[in-house]
Amino acid sequence: MTSDSRKRKMDLAGYRRKYVTQARRIVVKVGSGVLTAADGLDSRLIGRLAGEVSAVKAQGREVVLVSSGAIAAGFRKMGFPKRPTTVRQQQACAAVGQAGLMMTWEKAFERRGHKVAQVLLTAEDLANRQRYLNSRNTLTTLIEWNIIPIINENDTVVVAEIKFGDNDTLGSLVAGLIEADLFINLTDLDGLYDADPRQNPDARFLPLVENVGAREESMASGIPGSLGAGGMYTKILAARRLARHGVASIIAGGSQSAPLTRILSGEPLGTLFLPRTRPLKSRKHWLAFTAKPRGRLVVDEGARQALLEKGKSLLPSGVVEVVDRFSEGDPVQVVDLEGRVVAVGLTNYSSDELRLLAGCHTREIETRLGYRHSDEIIHRDNMVVGDDLRA
Ligand code: GLU
Repeated sequence: MTSDSRKRKMDLAGYRRKYVTQARRIVVKVGSGVLTAADGLDSRLIGRLAGEVSAVKAQGREVVLVSSGAIAAGFRKMGFPKRPTTVRQQQACAAVGQAGLMMTWEKAFERRGHKVAQVLLTAEDLANRQRYLNSRNTLTTLIEWNIIPIINENDTVVVAEIKFGDNDTLGSLVAGLIEADLFINLTDLDGLYDADPRQNPDARFLPLVENVGAREESMASGIPGSLGAGGMYTKILAARRLARHGVASIIAGGSQSAPLTRILSGEPLGTLFLPRTRPLKSRKHWLAFTAKPRGRLVVDEGARQALLEKGKSLLPSGVVEVVDRFSEGDPVQVVDLEGRVVAVGLTNYSSDELRLLAGCHTREIETRLGYRHSDEIIHRDNMVVGDDLRA
């Protein structure tokens, strides 16, 4: 059992109280499908959302907006029947649409006494450490000044290879960058279903996802977006990325009445994705620098490469020797045949169990032990590898 499956169980209302109603710094992403009507930007809806953001700020919370809609507004302004498919045309449409998008937001907020700031980012800005820190400084300064940053990808200048490509990804990176408590992803579906509800009337709605992972990714892969770039898949990847960073997120319908106010007052709107109880960063830090390994696993060359070069978890087949005594959940060192430390991680099996499992195939775990609590000996998420072990 991993630490996350031991996460203290609460009911949905309890989780909403813990992760949503108390959230102070919030990133709200609004998708193109929410912001645009048949003839262009839906300024009435933008006005309503601005009113909600204003009310949320009056509760003492900080709000950063990530707004899509530049391309959608641009192609409609151009009179094109649908979103163009070439990058060149999309970029030109974004250039046409971004100004109107900002103007509509600015007017809506001005009426409520708020100032806004336009922040256009590219993936390169956040990949480069210096620019990452700069973006963070600018955003936190804007927040301190009580200004509402409105972020979009700088669509006009990015090329296919270096763009975020969708604002779900951008929004989740921004939420991590400014250490938000909550990411609210407003879209044209009312949350996550186990199939596309527009195609399948039996699709089941999921109000809560405790450990977002591959299962949700595969559910979402068949649910396209109606207008923007992402679809449900990129929304789930965003939620997963944030869960690893310890940030909760919600995917909810943006066109229903007062979505933000209702979500933040604890109403069970949309799908809530819980953060990991121990976010990766602090756990990895703890594993690398604070934890005292209780034992050692000697692994073969194949496992060494899988861990160091391929980003894989440790499976029983790669284990050649088990040294010392330890229990399930203990930190252990993984060393290669030369005795060099490859990784430190939390083991899913005790030393006694591992002596029975060393060298076996994953599918034999159950026959050897009579039970199986996981396929991996050490899951990748519970492991610090190679250079990360060095300060
Ligand atoms: N940046 C794009 C726009 O403003 C939207 C990307 C997306 O749909 O996620 O049109």
